[in-house]
Parts: sequence; C-alpha cells; structure tokens
Amino acid sequence: MTDAPAYPGQPLSEVLTPALIVDLDALDHNLARMARLAKEAGVRLRPHGKMHKSADLARLQMAHGAVGLCCQKVSEAEAFARAGVTDLLVTNEVRGAARIARLTALAATGAHVGVCVDDPANVPELSSAITAAGATLDVYVERDIGQGRCGVTSTADVVTLARAIDAAPGLSFAGLQAYHGNAQHLPTHAERSAAIDAALPLVAEAVSALRDICLPPPQVTGAGSGTFPAEAASGLYTELQCGSYAVLDVDYARLLDANDSRYDATWRHAVFVLTEVMSVTRPGLAVLDAGHKAHAIDSGLPVIADRPDLRVTGASDEHTTVDDPASTLAVGDRLRLIPGHCDPTFNLHDWIVACRGDTVAELWPVTARGCQW
Ligand code: PLP
Ligand code: MN
Repeated sequence: MTDAPAYPGQPLSEVLTPALIVDLDALDHNLARMARLAKEAGVRLRPHGKMHKSADLARLQMAHGAVGLCCQKVSEAEAFARAGVTDLLVTNEVRGAARIARLTALAATGAHVGVCVDDPANVPELSSAITAAGATLDVYVERDIGQGRCGVTSTADVVTLARAIDAAPGLSFAGLQAYHGNAQHLPTHAERSAAIDAALPLVAEAVSALRDICLPPPQVTGAGSGTFPAEAASGLYTELQCGSYAVLDVDYARLLDANDSRYDATWRHAVFVLTEVMSVTRPGLAVLDAGHKAHAIDSGLPVIADRPDLRVTGASDEHTTVDDPASTLAVGDRLRLIPGHCDPTFNLHDWIVACRGDTVAELWPVTARGCQW
C-alpha cells in the first residue's frame, strides 16, 4: 500500500479526489513557449521553483533550457538539491546563523548556490560561514524597484554592498536582483509595462554605477509571469525568474488573456484540482469534495474548467459550493477546478498527478512541500 493517490496508466476517472492534476501537454506547451521567448530575447530563464516545489517539473524546465531554479527558502533549496536539482538561487535574504549554516553546508555539497543581500551586516556573516564550509557562494545585491519589500533603496547602497561582497572571502559578486512583485498582478498589460518602465531607470543607474567601480553585474535577475516581456526587452536584465507561467491560475489567465498578442494569447491552463460532486441536497446547489485545503483561495475562488456556465460560490476547509441553477450536476460527477492561485495550491498537496489526456502518466512528489525556513 502506498500513499500515492494514483498510478501510471490509471484512467483519470478512477483517481481518488481531490487530486492535484497537471496536464502534461499544456505544461509542455507553456515550458516550450517561455523557453522560446527567453531565447528570442537573449536572456536566461531561471524559473521560480517556489511555485511548483517539484523536482520533476524543475527537470522538465531544465530540459527546455532553464539554467537552474529559483527558490525562496533555504529548506526549499535543500529539498531540490536532495532530489538532484543543484543549480539554485535563493531569491531572498538569508539571515540568522542557523539558516546561514544550512545554506553554506548546501554549497559545500557541490551545489551551485546563490543568495541575495540587502544589508552590509549580512556580508561578513555569509563570508565567514562559507569560508568555514570550504565552499563559495554567489551573492546578488537586491535592489528594491517598487515592491517595498526586501532590497536596498539607493544606488549608493548597491555600490557599497557590491564592494563588500567582492572583497569578502568565499563570496562571488554575482550581480543584481531587481524583482517588482507589485507589478505582476496589475490588471492590464499597459499598467504592468508602465510599472516596469518606471522601475528600469533604477536598474540602469545601479548597473552603470557598478560598471563605474569596475564591478559590472554578471547577471541582472528578476521578472515574473505578469511583466517579463518588459524586463526581457529592457536590455538590462539577463535572467528571468518567472514561475506561474508554467501552469497559470485564475488570476494569471485573466491577466495574460489577450492583452499582448505576442506574449499572452496562448498560454494554457496546466494545473487543476480534480474534484467530485459529493452532495446535492437542494435544487441549484452542488457541493464538491475539495475545499481550500485543496485549492488556495487567497487570490479568489477557483473557476470550473469546461463548465463556464457554473459558478463557484464559496469554499470552506473541505467543501466547495457551486451555483448550478438548472441542477445539472449529480453526486459522483467530476469537475476540474482551475485554482485561484497556483503557488499555494501546489503546497497543499503531497503528490502531483501528471496526465496525458485522460490517463495518468506519472506521479510526482511535491518535493519541497511545506518547506518554511
Ligand atoms: N521572483 C521572485 C523573487 C518572486 O517572489 C516571485 C513570485 O512571487 C517570482 C519571481 C515569480 O513570479 P510569478 O509566479 O509571478 O511568475
Ligand atoms: Mn503567486
């Protein structure tokens, strides 16, 4: 007996629900498309692994030419490395001796590890730990370009940090991270491009100041699925960190839908939560067996794929309610939910059921599920 919810060759109709389904044809399409767009723009692609947390999916992205993977947490990086994905950029600051010790120990295993800094005090902490571990770390200066989260807020601070990194034993100055999280979910393509256009002078100023001190940034990394066309075309960024493009979700489908015919029109939904109708006690209401422990609702409720006439009206822990005015649904009917937000949805599941058409092709563990630190 195994805890896996399905087996290769099994018809999808027999998979126990709720289950996290990835449509491999749609996934391949999205991975190939982003790989082609990055190549055409002359930039590298380092997709964000925090989205899917799956080493199997990461390997597919690398097969499509990704240079490595982004993670947000040290424990995520450890999980990916254990599963054989070993070129990892932690797109985040790592603070505290215990976390830094784990990061440097990971680099000492031979993994290629990068990390961001936004505080000069972090530089000697990383340097002494990585020296003691007998390894090297790639270190990026994080520049805040409008998100108001991590990252230094002036060119002078970028220069100070780059100098400190360059002078610190065991640390290699790897460049700049400039990620504009707030811009990703602005409603129109024009607003998203404008937000990046407003931020680009900050990146340009940092790059030019670094050139002036003979520390040109080897990489300028950032961008998400909502804005990457702007960063890719900027002539400044060398690497894209997009995550959600691989599978989409309700929010990203709405954002990317036909706003920009070159970049947006043909992404495909690749992730679904397969669910079953479990109760129809009154006319016009159907209750599904997947609640928000199976699909994340922080960005809004899911949409029902293939039945746009039906509307999800609410979700509790283990149930989702559907408005079905003509009472078309019966107990046992199966529906695929498009999650409101893909990243936290993957983190809710132990397994990804990877399908070709209506048949289970592979079972993938959610390798870095629950990795919090
Ligand atoms: N880079 C960083 C630093 C992020 O925090 C994220 C997501 O929040 C991404 C890239 C990927 O963004 P998206 O899933 O919107 O493509
Ligand atoms: Mn997200």
